[in-house]
Amino acid sequence: MLDTALRILNEITNQGFEAYIVGGFVRDYLLGITTNDVDICTSATPKDIKEIFENITLPRVDYGAVRLNFKNYRFDIMTFRKESEYSNNRQPLEVKYIKDLLIDLQRRDFKMNTVCMDKNGNIIDLIDGKKDIENKIINTVGDSISRFVEDPLRILRAVRFYTTLEFELSDEVKTAILRTKNELRRLSYQRKKEELDKIFCHKNAKRGIDLIIKLGLDEELELDFKHCVYNTDLIGIWSSIGVNGKYPFTKSEKDLINKIKEARNLDNLDNAVLFKYGLYVNVIAGTIKGLDRKEIGEKYNALPIKTQDEVNITSNQIMGVLDMEPSKKIKEIYEDLINNILCGKVENNYEEIVHYLIEKYK
Ligand code: ATP
Ligand code: MG
Repeated sequence: MLDTALRILNEITNQGFEAYIVGGFVRDYLLGITTNDVDICTSATPKDIKEIFENITLPRVDYGAVRLNFKNYRFDIMTFRKESEYSNNRQPLEVKYIKDLLIDLQRRDFKMNTVCMDKNGNIIDLIDGKKDIENKIINTVGDSISRFVEDPLRILRAVRFYTTLEFELSDEVKTAILRTKNELRRLSYQRKKEELDKIFCHKNAKRGIDLIIKLGLDEELELDFKHCVYNTDLIGIWSSIGVNGKYPFTKSEKDLINKIKEARNLDNLDNAVLFKYGLYVNVIAGTIKGLDRKEIGEKYNALPIKTQDEVNITSNQIMGVLDMEPSKKIKEIYEDLINNILCGKVENNYEEIVHYLIEKYK
């Protein structure tokens, strides 16, 4: 992976531009974690980049960035935000480039995210970020309070890195979050949800949620973790907490969450419920109710049928046996049959089913 990333840097620098890998990739590389997302900052403009690489998809014009998909990797190539104001002809180019890079790094959120790598794989550490990575500590670039007020998403990013990387917050960051947390209300629910998703879907979700509660961010985020269940997954967490209705969920997320809530409110975990909601919903709903997951899995596996397709008779055959025309009644009969198979009253083989249908409906 590193080879590919360095090759990209070389392609750009060979055309006379400066380019560095920055952010999460370098941070994770120093931590021994591999990632497929690479952020590159460069003196080349998006137009220059498009000329250098052909297979470019989705130019993110709004950010002055280009996204390059190469093999399995994703490169976000972003032009230095500001040109150095000090550049003049007498100044060696290298000095100007370092100034451009430094200005770019100063707008970044945390020191640990400012460490760069050049085309030869050398680490460039202009803002002392490597030390923070080694000490596993989260410090903002510059005054924490003003950086959080400037973009409150950084508060949630701090919580996310605390969760996923198991870093600590510096005292300054902690204090600043307590002072600025009401700024979270300015953020769109979409941006909040994206960051919360990354926290909730991580195996350390509990670590993050404990911090959210400890810092009192739950109130600002309009989330209630009183009944939160951690040992599930992303959807399990969202289903078990109180959420302001303005958080945007996709249709499939909404459907799952509603089903889990429905299943959670049922008293019995009988075969009909296992069949209707399927294994995934039942396991999450059961976990929220404090039931044993293994038991749910075993009960599910023991179901006589898991889907309608497994019923050993078709609607057409039922109509034939009962000499009936297509109608709503057939659907009712089919459902009744399924319920009887599920509770073990009718065996799921054709002869038994026919016998039952004739007895009951003919
Ligand atoms: P990961 O890719 O693991 O989520 P990352 O640190 O690379 O972590 P990205 O969202 O990919 O995060 O952002 C890339 C870099 O851009 C960051 O490392 C950081 O330097 C900068 N950045 C991202 N979001 C912000 C922000 N809200 N404020 C300031 N700088 C930011
Ligand atoms: Mg990244």
